[in-house]
Amino acid sequence: MIDTSELIKKHIRTVPDWPQVGIQFRDITTLLQDPKIFRILMDVFLARYADQKLDLVAGMDARGFILGSVLAYELNIGFVPIRKKGKLPFATLEESYDLEYGSATVEIHTDACKAGDRVLLIDDLMATGGTMMAGKRLLERLGANIVEGAVIVDLPDLGGSKLIEESGLGLFKVCE
Ligand code: AMP
Repeated sequence: MIDTSELIKKHIRTVPDWPQVGIQFRDITTLLQDPKIFRILMDVFLARYADQKLDLVAGMDARGFILGSVLAYELNIGFVPIRKKGKLPFATLEESYDLEYGSATVEIHTDACKAGDRVLLIDDLMATGGTMMAGKRLLERLGANIVEGAVIVDLPDLGGSKLIEESGLGLFKVCE
């Protein structure tokens, strides 16, 4: 019998050479558009976080918003967006980082969480780890207690999961 992680992986499309030559883009839209598989995925996250007494889910722009808001809704807790620079209307903190392709700056509202809040940081994919490390630094600057990072896909060869673990943040991944 195919296991859950393989089933989820099977529903993620790999698009070669997008957005740049050499990048194997893992496209989760194929998973999201299948209601059965989307539910199976979210149930994996729910099973892991149902009893963790989280206060908030923080999602990375943009696919972390999809996963994070469903999870927050189901856990009956709040959702915090960590957005690409220039999108959040209120006072922000910002952090810059390098991507697998290019560089980026992300922001969080200064009132997004309270010191000591138990926060889960979620994104669709871990590559070099720059994105999640930037999210971690923002939440830490607000005094959050980050429970762990969570992704659907980890690409271990790109070193992100090692970086995250070395930083002291646990990482939950559904597949590689
Ligand atoms: P990184 O900061 O290098 O760990 O990159 C992770 C972030 O960039 C996530 O928000 C992903 O959505 C996106 N990303 C990077 N590489 C890929 C890839 N090969 N396929 C899909 N998304 C990617």
